[in-house]
Amino acid sequence: MSLVVFLGGQYHITAHSSRARIVTATSGQLVGRAGLIRTLALQMSIDTTGKWWVGSAPEDLEEYLAAYSSDGYESSVFRLALCTCGSVQFKLEADDNEGTARRTCTACRMEHFICDSEDYWSDAEPETWQCVECHSSSANVGVGFALYADSSDIKWLYVGARCSTCGVLGCFAGWKVGYGPSNDLLNRV
Ligand SMILES: [Zn+2]
Ligand SMILES: [Zn+2]
Repeated sequence: MSLVVFLGGQYHITAHSSRARIVTATSGQLVGRAGLIRTLALQMSIDTTGKWWVGSAPEDLEEYLAAYSSDGYESSVFRLALCTCGSVQFKLEADDNEGTARRTCTACRMEHFICDSEDYWSDAEPETWQCVECHSSSANVGVGFALYADSSDIKWLYVGARCSTCGVLGCFAGWKVGYGPSNDLLNRV
């Protein structure tokens, strides 16, 4: 039997006997399986009732981008951007026409070109992402990928941003990939 355990912001799969009980890392409290699943559900959810969709966690970008792209090349694979320093908050710049985006870590200032963006950056006129609701410029960034049906190559990608202050979700840029092999772009978000 395997259960998902929430440990300090990371999800871990752990195998153990059916008699094992689960301890939450934050409180040290013993909780039942139902309680744990409720806790996990609360970590990730999208509120669609307002003008903008609002996600409670960075990982909500996956569901958002899948919904956003559902009328076209649907995003079926998702990767959340994570700086080498461990931060998930970035300044995001992109040129949607050129198909290029760069993120800059708000903690350590490391710059990173998203996927194949570096090849197209020199011709770009990038805009800087800003939250439509609270005007923050710090975002969680994630990329949704639409793959070809008969290969692992990427047809299209979507650069999503979630305001790290108020949670508003959006797609800031997207572009055609359409070449192969391109599956390594999944590791360059
Ligand atoms: Zn960093
Ligand atoms: Zn905001």
